[in-house]
This record gives sequence, C-alpha cells and structure tokens, in this order.
Amino acid sequence: MILGLMQTAPLLISGILRYVASAHGGREVVSRLIDEPIWRYDYAGLARRSAQAANALTRLGVTSGDRITSLAWNTHRHLELFYAVPGLGAVLHTANPRLSDEQIVFTINHAASGVLLFDRNFAELVARIAPQLTTVKTFVILSDAERTLDAAVGAASYETLIAGEARTFDWPDLDENAGAFLCYTSGTTGDPKGVLYSHRAVVLHAMAGGLNSAFGLTAFDVVMPCSSLYHATAWGVPFTAPICGSKLVLPADKMDGASLHQLIRDEGVTFTGGVPTIWTMYLAWLEQTGQRPDSLKRVVIGGSAVPRAMAETFKTKYGVDVLQIWGMTETCPIGVVATPTPSLAALGEDALNDAIWTRQGRLQFGIELRVETEDGREAPRDGETSGALKVRGPWVVRRYFRKDEDAADADGWFDTGDIATLDEHGFMRITDRQKDVIKSGGEWISSIDLENIAAGCPGVKIAAVVGAPHPKWEERPLLIIEAHDGVDVTKAAVLDYLAPRIVKWWTPDDVIFAPVPLTATGKIDKKVLREAWRGHLMG
Ligand code: ADP
Repeated sequence: MILGLMQTAPLLISGILRYVASAHGGREVVSRLIDEPIWRYDYAGLARRSAQAANALTRLGVTSGDRITSLAWNTHRHLELFYAVPGLGAVLHTANPRLSDEQIVFTINHAASGVLLFDRNFAELVARIAPQLTTVKTFVILSDAERTLDAAVGAASYETLIAGEARTFDWPDLDENAGAFLCYTSGTTGDPKGVLYSHRAVVLHAMAGGLNSAFGLTAFDVVMPCSSLYHATAWGVPFTAPICGSKLVLPADKMDGASLHQLIRDEGVTFTGGVPTIWTMYLAWLEQTGQRPDSLKRVVIGGSAVPRAMAETFKTKYGVDVLQIWGMTETCPIGVVATPTPSLAALGEDALNDAIWTRQGRLQFGIELRVETEDGREAPRDGETSGALKVRGPWVVRRYFRKDEDAADADGWFDTGDIATLDEHGFMRITDRQKDVIKSGGEWISSIDLENIAAGCPGVKIAAVVGAPHPKWEERPLLIIEAHDGVDVTKAAVLDYLAPRIVKWWTPDDVIFAPVPLTATGKIDKKVLREAWRGHLMG
C-alpha cells in the first residue's frame, strides 16, 4: 500500500457552519416560535448567534465531551444549539418530549447532561421532573428575558445568556469521530437506547442527503422540516438544507393544517417532510378548505409506511411528488429514499409510480443493505423473498451509548428488526417489523400491507393491524380504524373495500372502530393495541 498524499481535514459540523456563512450567508432562515413573532435572519446570522451560544455555554463551564440536553421544537434557537454544542466539542442530547416523564428523566440522567435548555411550553414538564435530574446544574429557557418564567426552576433566558457574547468563536479542530448528537430510541421495549452520532457520520449523512438520488435540494429550494429536530436530527435536514444553500423554514410545534399551510404559502416552501400522520392532517385540511399548496414540489415522508393513497393524492390532486424514506435512529437516520430510476421509468408511468409509492426506497451510496433469510443466507433480489433487514455503513450505529457490547456483528451488520425485500432495481420494501408480523396457520401476514390498503378506504384516517391470539390459527389480523371526524365508516364498507384488494385469508377477523394510539415517534403503538385486544378472538 502507498498512502495517498491528500489533506485529512476532519469532517466537522463547524465546517458546515463556516461554509454556509461564507457561501450562502444571505440565504434566509425563518422560524416560528412558541409565543413570539416569526423570526427571520440568514445563515450569516445563524453563524453569529451559534458562536454567541458557544461562548455562553463555555462561560457556563461546558467543555469538550460534556453532554447538554435540549427539550425543544423546530425553532431557530434549537438550530443554533445544533451547531453551537457539537461545534465546541460537546454533545447535544435532543430529548424527546413525547416520551413519558420517567423516560425523559432516564435519558437525561443516562446522558449525564449538565445543562438543560427548554422551550417555554415545557416549563411545567421541567418543573415536574427537575427534582429527579441528578446531573443538570443549569436550566435555560429558550426565550427572551421578557417571556422567561420566574418560577421555572431558576432558569436563565437564552437571549440574556447570549446577548453580550462575541459573535465569533474559535471552533476547535476536533477528531471527526468525536460524539456530536445523542439520540435515544423511543424504547418501545425496555429503556430507551442512546445512539451517539459522530461528526463524521452527521456530515457524511448530510452530504448524501443532498444528492439527487436522495433529497436533491438546490439553492432555489425552500425547505421546511416537519420531522422533529429532537428525533434523529430531523433527518439531517438542518445540515443538508444549509449545505445546499436552501432557505430554511422552521415551524416550531405548529403542525396543524392551517399553520403549515400559512408557512408554505407565505414563505414559498418547495420541499417539506415528516411522518405520515402530519400529512394525513394536512391533506384533510386541504380537502376541507379547498386550498392548494401551490409552491410545494416535494414531500418526503417516512418513520412509518406511507399509505399509497397518500402519495397518490399528493401527486394527482396537487402535483406534489412524495419521496418515501426509511430509516431509524440507529442509521442517523436515513437509510433509503424512493427516487425514480431510468430502469423503472422505462416500464412506464404506472410501474414507476407503483414502485415509488409502495416501496420504502432504493439503495443509497453509504448504506449497504442485506436481506437475510432464516438460514442466514442472503435473499435473492427478486422483490418477493423477505427476510431480516441488516444494514451497515459509516452512519450506522456500532454500539449504544454506555453499553459494553457492540450492537452490530463482527462484520458491521446491524439487525434493524424489520422484515424486508429487495428487488432488481435496488428498491427495498418493508413488509413488517419482526415483532409485528402476524403468524397465521404457519404463514405470515404483513400488517403494513394490510394497513396500507385499508388506509385507502374512504373515510379512514388511520388503519392499524395487529395479530390477536386465535384458538385455531395461532394469530389472526384485527383491523382497528380511526375514522375522519364526522365520517361514518362501517365494518361492511371496509371489508367490501378490502375484498378485491387482498387474498382471502388475509381478511381481518374483525374491524374495530376506536382511536389509534401513537408512540412518542408518531408510529402506531402496536404494543398498546395488542394488549387491548389480546382476548378478542379467544371466545
Ligand atoms: P423507534 O425505533 O425508536 O420507534 P425510529 O424512528 O428509529 O424510532 O424507528 C425506526 C423504525 O421505523 C424502522 O425500523 C421501521 O420499522 C420504521 N420505519 C421507518 N420508516 C419507515 C417506512 N418508510 N416504512 C415502514 N416503516 C418505517
């Protein structure tokens, strides 16, 4: 071997900030806030205020390797922490406010955070959990002095804290493998597990996100991430959009149809993204009001399966392309993105639409996928044979934070817990999570496929399918439906809708109309549903 003679500048988050301030310094950043007027500045302003935040945190004693927790929505202040905290060498733990109090306390203590910065409307939550936080010394409200609440655990105001600080910071030359973000899984089984993203992983993931085979952002795009900044860094968009020079619009916690539409219209949003539940609400709002998202070109949706009807409505009614993504906290989080290929386009529009509306995405450079059958062999890429989905690559977890054993095997493969197929075009399709698949008479029924089809039935807002223990067949599918407000959907109508679209033995044994519980990351909470309906078919 002979070593290359090129430079080895580390891939650092502060490098993104430096680049953005100099190359796209005038491009706008717009942020909604909890109860303040809309905030506007540009990437040069982001660089200045991130430097002020880094100076302030340093003054508070924060140094390299320390953990800092944010409990915050999608706002410009949270964005500043995304750059300031890793930039100075510390780690930003983005706590998920939708977890239970107990789990939030667990994650902050497990991270051993010294500082907790929180949005105003978490003041009550923070006051409640503060006595149990064993390591937090400093509380900061992400607000101005005027709106900082006196009683909020002696918290200082973020604006007061950074006000007198210098607008530049000497960002240190860190090892690119240094920890940058600490994101916890939602812990549907056991305690949440911490995934510690390195600078290198975040930067590579953000660069890959900008490619045309992924989000394909340009300097003309106006990007509004509606996936939460606290959940796996909002899919890296807070880095990908600036790298591409796109304008960034941050919607805070206002995810209702009217609020989203106002920003889309007023700011000319071209690209947005989030979990399916947000778009179910938005499409229903568009339908009710007769409004159209005229500037919008693309919506990226993932976190759980995108109902085909959702992608189809966006495209046929509003001319908006849906890009499905699949990923998980452990993959930084983007694993695959469903973007068209010439080989599919050659099959015609219907085949192309079918592929990109019903598959999670195609292989991206940087993430290797392997579908493994029960005998441990790699499944053929026929789009039919399903198996355990394993992944590896530079932005895939190796080991969870503060665990002694690796999460990936000796060859780097991490078992995702999903069941999937791969096809000859390089598209991956998730058929289920290992723990959700329904085993009926020795055969498998895909709960995701059934949900996806049922979601297309008129009047259905959310369709959830779980396996319920059955005296003869081991398990049988139960369909739980939450209908749109004021719409009357009947069991007979649902079963009639399903009949021509599924094989007969997949027909749910019952259709139940009830609210569908969601997890802290916006997925259907199957654990709760399974518990609730466990005895339903046992007679
Ligand atoms: P958690 O595991 O903590 O609930 P994650 O967001 O990391 O939160 O969840 C990752 C899981 O979400 C994946 O393993 C997969 O089961 C599911 N998922 C993500 N995107 C999709 C998608 N597009 N289609 C189907 N399932 C998805």
